[in-house]
Amino acid sequence: MKPSERQFGNVLLPLSTESFTYEIATPMQPPRIGDWVQVPLRKSVATGVYTGKAKEVSPEIQSLARPVEACQSADELPFLPESLLRLIDWTASYYICPEGAVLKYAIPSGVWKGLFKVPRRSRLTETGPLPSDKPEGRFQLSAEQERALQRISSETGGVFLLKGVTGSGKTEVYLRAVESLPEGLGTIVLVPEIVLTTQMVRRFQERFGEKVVIYHSGLSEGQRTRAWNEVRQGRARVAIGVRSAIFLPFEKLGMVIVDEEHSATYKQAEGLRYNARDLSVVRGKLQGATIILGSATPSLESYENARSGKYQELVLSQRVKEKPMPLVKVVDMKAAAKASPSVSEELREAVSETLTADGQVLLLITRRGFAHVVMCGDCGQVAKCPLCSVSLTHHKKVQRLRCHHCGSELMVPVSCSHCGGTRLLFQGEGTERAEEEVRELFPGLAPLRMDYDTTRRRNSFAEMIASMETGETSMLVGTQMVAKGHDFPGVHLAAVVSGDVLLGLPDFRAAERAFQLFSQLSGRAGRGEVPGRVLIQTHDPEHFIFEYVARHDYDGFASRELDLRRSLGYPPYSRIIRFVVKGKVLKNFEKTLETVDRVCRNFRPPGVELLGPAPCPLSRLRGYHRWHLLLRGKSSSRVHAAARGLAEKLRALPALALDIDVDPVHML
Ligand code: ADP
Ligand code: ZN
Repeated sequence: MKPSERQFGNVLLPLSTESFTYEIATPMQPPRIGDWVQVPLRKSVATGVYTGKAKEVSPEIQSLARPVEACQSADELPFLPESLLRLIDWTASYYICPEGAVLKYAIPSGVWKGLFKVPRRSRLTETGPLPSDKPEGRFQLSAEQERALQRISSETGGVFLLKGVTGSGKTEVYLRAVESLPEGLGTIVLVPEIVLTTQMVRRFQERFGEKVVIYHSGLSEGQRTRAWNEVRQGRARVAIGVRSAIFLPFEKLGMVIVDEEHSATYKQAEGLRYNARDLSVVRGKLQGATIILGSATPSLESYENARSGKYQELVLSQRVKEKPMPLVKVVDMKAAAKASPSVSEELREAVSETLTADGQVLLLITRRGFAHVVMCGDCGQVAKCPLCSVSLTHHKKVQRLRCHHCGSELMVPVSCSHCGGTRLLFQGEGTERAEEEVRELFPGLAPLRMDYDTTRRRNSFAEMIASMETGETSMLVGTQMVAKGHDFPGVHLAAVVSGDVLLGLPDFRAAERAFQLFSQLSGRAGRGEVPGRVLIQTHDPEHFIFEYVARHDYDGFASRELDLRRSLGYPPYSRIIRFVVKGKVLKNFEKTLETVDRVCRNFRPPGVELLGPAPCPLSRLRGYHRWHLLLRGKSSSRVHAAARGLAEKLRALPALALDIDVDPVHML
C-alpha cells in the first residue's frame, strides 16, 4: 500500500501526556470523535479516546505509529461528547498541563473499568431523600426575582451575574430558570461543598425529583460511575455537584449555575489547578449554554466583568417578603469589657437576650482546635510542625497537637523541647476553646460545635443541620461552615467571636475573603419573623471593611477594593501565574535556587513582570522547602506565553519539583 493511503488518528490516554498518533489499519473503520479505543502502549494495551484524524503525520511518526487494536461499536453512543473533549483541550492549554492528565481527572476511574462490561440499566442514583409527596408551595416571585428570571429566559447563552443579598431568593430564581429550559437540555449546578448544601439539594429534588443526580468526592466509585452514566445516557436533567461536576458529559447542556460563585473551593489547589467557575463560562460558550453565577458577595473578578459589560448583572437588592437586613455592630476587643477571654460582655448579653426570646445563635471562630499556639513560658519557644513552617494547634479533647496543613500529630508535651521549662502556655482562640467558654458562661446550654473535626463522621453534619432546623439546639459554634448557605429562620443572632486572622493573611485577597465571610455570616441572621442582629468582635475595628459590612454595602466595598487592586496592579486588573519550586533536601534545594535565580534574571518577557523568586509565606510544607515567583501582566496571552517559556527553561533543570498555578487563589 502507498504510504499516502494509510490513515492515522490521535488518541488521548488518561495519562500525564499529550495525545499519541496511531494508525487506523484496514479493515477498521475510522472511529468517531469521542469513541473509546484500545491501543498498544509499550508492552501492554491501554484504553483511550479517539480525538480525530491526525493531519500532516511526519514520515518518522508514520514509521513508528502502531495500529489501533479495537474500537467502540458504532451502534452505541460515543463514549464522550465532542464538546467535552474540547473543554478538556481548553483546560489543558489554559492551565498548562498535559491533556491526558485532564482526561484522567475528568472521567471517574470506574467509568473506564466499566467500558467492557455490559451496562446495567440502573435506577437513578441514591440521592438521599426521595421527593416529598407534598410539593413545596409555589411562591409569587418578587418583582426583582421576576425581572431576573425574564432576562435569563429571554437570552440563551448569556453569562449572568446574579448578585442577590442573602435571603433574597436566589435559589428560587435558579429553580425557575431550570424549569424554563426547553425539554432535553441538561443543567449543571455547582456548589462549593456538598455537605453545606443539603438544603439546596433538597429543594432541587423536590422540584425535579428523580431527574436529579448528585456528584461529589464523598461518593463511592460505583455511585460516581452510575451518576456519570445517567448523565451520559441523557437520563439526568440536573446534576448538582462540586467543582469536578463541570466535566460531566452532558451532550446537550442548557445551563450551568454556579452558586456562591466567589467561593475559593471552585479552585483546585493541588494537581490540576483549575477553577470550575471559570470553566463553566468556557463550557457555556462551547455548548451555547446559559451561565448563572450567583452570590451575595461576588468575586471581584466576576464583579468587574459585570461592570465592564462582559457579564450581565442581575440584582436582587431586597430580602424576600420585605424582611430587613440584620443590624450589624462591631465590638472593639481592645477596649471591651470581657465576660471570658474571648467573649465580650456585649456578646454575652446579646446571647442571653436571644436565648431568653427563644432565638438561636450562630458563633463563628475562624480557627478550629483549642489553642493555635503552644508556647514555652520560660524561653518563648513555640511548638512547630516538624514538616511545615507553622505552629501546631492544641486539640484538647483528643489531647494532641495537630498541624492543620499536613495533618501531623504529636503528643501534648509536658515540657519545652528547647529549655525543658514546664510552664507551657496555650494561647489563641479556636472553636474548641470558644465552646468551652460558652458552656461555662451559659450553664445548661448545650452548644453544637461544627468544624472539620466534628463533621468528618458521615451524617454528623446533616444531624447538626436537622437539630438547628427543629430548634432542638439553640447554639451552633463553628468555623466558616456555620456561615454558609443555611436557612435557619430561628437564628436571631450571628456573631464573629474572632476572625482577625483572616485580615492579617499575607494575600492580596485577604480583605475580600473577610468581607465575604462576615457578610455571609450576617446573612444567616433574621431570616424568620424576628429581625436579626450581628456582632463582630475584632482587635482591628478601624479596618475599612467593617463600615461596609455594617452597611451591607457590597458595591461600596467592591469599588474601594477595586481601586486598590488597580493601583497595585493585582487581579482583576492583571493576570497572575504562580510558580512554586520545591525541594526536600535543603542543601540541594539552595543550589537549585541559585540556578533558578540565574534563569529568572535573564528572563525578560515583553509586557510581563517577574516577581521573585522569594520564599513562600508557607516556606515549608509537608517536608518540602518552597519558593515562589509570580508572572504578572495585563494580557493573559502574554503572561501565558511567558509562563510556557519559563516552564520550559526550569523543567530542563535537574531535580527540580515545579508547580504551576494559573490564576492562583491562594498565595501561601
Ligand atoms: P438566598 O439563596 O438568596 O440566600 P433563598 O433562595 O435561600 O435565598 O431564599 C430564602 C428563603 O425565602 C427560602 O426559604 C425560600 O424558600 C424563600 N423564598 C424565596 N423566594 C420567595 C418568594 N418569592 N416568596 C416567598 N418566599 C420566598
Ligand atoms: Zn505540618
